[in-house]
Amino acid sequence: MAGRKPFVGGNWKMNLNTAEAAAVASAIVSGFKAAGKVDVVICPPFPYLAHVGSFVKNSGVKLGAQDFYFADNGAYTGEVSLAMLKDVGASVVLTGHSERRHVIGESDVLINAKTRAALNAGLEVILCVGEKLEQRELGQTDAINAAQVCYGLAGVKAEQMSKVTIAYEPVWAIGTGKTATDADAQAAHAAIRKVLGGLYGSSIADATRIQYGGSVKGSNAAGLFGQPDIDGGLIGGASLKADEFLAIVNAAAAK
Ligand code: PEP
Repeated sequence: MAGRKPFVGGNWKMNLNTAEAAAVASAIVSGFKAAGKVDVVICPPFPYLAHVGSFVKNSGVKLGAQDFYFADNGAYTGEVSLAMLKDVGASVVLTGHSERRHVIGESDVLINAKTRAALNAGLEVILCVGEKLEQRELGQTDAINAAQVCYGLAGVKAEQMSKVTIAYEPVWAIGTGKTATDADAQAAHAAIRKVLGGLYGSSIADATRIQYGGSVKGSNAAGLFGQPDIDGGLIGGASLKADEFLAIVNAAAAK
């Protein structure tokens, strides 16, 4: 797989409280034995970032944020800046998550502004893309993914791509218990890699990690991660349970 190190992210979304966040983070840190073989990030809700950061510090598990605003500072009530995230130890951010696209209503323009701002601030970005069920049924999966990748990466320079991971997350599979088949996920990943090749050339396309997301569990992770273009996963529900998340991390490490 062109030397790509698998990458597994845990997106806790709007879940857990202080004690639960600490318990899950410390169990993940103490059970994480595969640092050389897989990169791992956990993305807690904002109020718990610094606290979770104190557990993951120097553990090999990275701290990530689920969201941020692209401006440096100022009158943006309710928003959180990239400098604030860096200040509490976050080194990875998500952009384009389907819940931000389709529940909160973020546009491709905003997602692109966030992606560029995060990279310019030196953070790693996981840019999420994926089709809705009706788009899949119309045979539009690859076209939707291509458009979201191209919009999301507009203005991103080739030398910044080493800090970009794409997460392919079919919307109909997120939090539903439905997972793309290994073959369907592989086909979508291969098509996304081709789009990256068109944008940046084959060596950057080959080097860019593409995670799969959508109801990944310990029981289905190995099949998905065994596909040549699937470089780990972005995990929602299963990342709230340390044992389940570690099983997924270990499946990625075994790739
Ligand atoms: C996600 O939110 O990125 C996700 C893939 O969620 P889940 O694993 O719960 O489907």
